[in-house]
Amino acid sequence: MVETVSGMRIALPPAHREFQERLRTWLAEHVPPGGLPDADTDEGFRAHRAWERTLHDAGYAGLSWPREHGGAGGDLLHEALFAEEYERARGPVRITRPALRFLGPTIMRFGTPAQQQRWLPRMLRAEDIWSQGFSEPEAGSDLAGIRTRAELRDGRYVVDGQKTWTTYGRFADWVFALVRTGPAGGRHRGLTCLAIDLRSPGVQVRPVRQAHGRTGFAEVFLTGVEVPADQRIGDHDDGWAVAMALLSSERGPDAGGPVRTEQRLLALAGQVARELPADQVAAATRELGAAAARLHAYRAHTHRRVAAGWQGEPAGVESSVVKLYSSELDLDLVELGVDLFGDRRLAEGSAEYLDFWHSRAGRVYGGTAEVQHNVVADRVLGLPR
Ligand SMILES: Cc1cc2nc3c(=O)[nH]c(=O)nc-3n(C[C@H](O)[C@H](O)[C@H](O)COP(=O)(O)OP(=O)(O)OC[C@H]3O[C@@H](n4cnc5c(N)ncnc54)[C@H](O)[C@@H]3O)c2cc1C
Repeated sequence: MVETVSGMRIALPPAHREFQERLRTWLAEHVPPGGLPDADTDEGFRAHRAWERTLHDAGYAGLSWPREHGGAGGDLLHEALFAEEYERARGPVRITRPALRFLGPTIMRFGTPAQQQRWLPRMLRAEDIWSQGFSEPEAGSDLAGIRTRAELRDGRYVVDGQKTWTTYGRFADWVFALVRTGPAGGRHRGLTCLAIDLRSPGVQVRPVRQAHGRTGFAEVFLTGVEVPADQRIGDHDDGWAVAMALLSSERGPDAGGPVRTEQRLLALAGQVARELPADQVAAATRELGAAAARLHAYRAHTHRRVAAGWQGEPAGVESSVVKLYSSELDLDLVELGVDLFGDRRLAEGSAEYLDFWHSRAGRVYGGTAEVQHNVVADRVLGLPR
């Protein structure tokens, strides 16, 4: 029987089709109709934690994670179907997203059995919220420039330095940090990954106010923080390999992405139909049509990557292509809305206002657009450096 995943008609295996139908019903019955309070506030974060617990208890957290780690034992197609249906149902933002998409899978690959047992089930139940501590004031695109130092003394790392742009850092319990254990200036050699408990003495978390006014982001200051050596993930001085695997998972396919873009496109099309003077509609419709064609291509790419991942192929350089393509499409859609309707589309706190800022952030997090252009030029097109 033919069903859809990522908007394309493919034959879904019967078990996946049943899963999709069950999921649709569950989401229709459980997604909070008016959404949840803003996840960047204390009250909102608590509500999102409780929602994550609801998802977990219903069997929808860690769909592709093995059962031994508390997951549902499914596969990447289950994850893709979930991502798509969840966005269609307008489910709340996932505060466990970094854990589910890339921190947990990296611990599965590089962590010891004891670490996996200790951390993974609690991640899935949102008992512990995990954040990513890679970026520093002097190390973003140039990740090998990391300066936060960790000295190994008597079975403990003593960590000093600063992390920044830590998503949900204000509320997180743990940070998955990349630190320097080798000589200063050693670039990608002499780095190590540590799981740091953010309740440890010497940790100071300072919220960062973002352009849209929300404050879930944080800077994390580490002063003489003691981290037991059994919280090292991967080998001492071999953190670069762990970090690269993590970033590759971070850029893995997100089947929910095209659904979100489609929702934005349809909302804008609705506004054009309702509000634009008749003599401007034809030109606006041409722009919307061009965006719809790009959305179709974005979906097709995403679908191809989901299928490749399902068949066990690692996420390759195509992630850079899709990230570039989707972030530019999202930005252009927001710009089109502003061109057509001006600032009145950007009432503070509205969905369009948040989209305006998120579309800019989309060209920065997980590797900036300029860096992705370099990757495509180098590894896809083979252009000289
Ligand atoms: C919404 C959001 C969430 C984030 N969450 C996290 C998080 O949870 N944890 C975390 O560790 N980090 C996080 N980050 C940080 C993110 O990873 C960095 O912002 C990103 O890697 C860029 O680093 P930077 O900000 O230091 O900019 P820089 O690297 O200083 O770049 C500045 C400018 O120079 C350009 N540039 C840099 N190098 C090159 C080059 N070689 N060629 C051409 N142009 C170049 C960049 O494209 C950019 O335009 C987040 C960022 C955002 C926006």
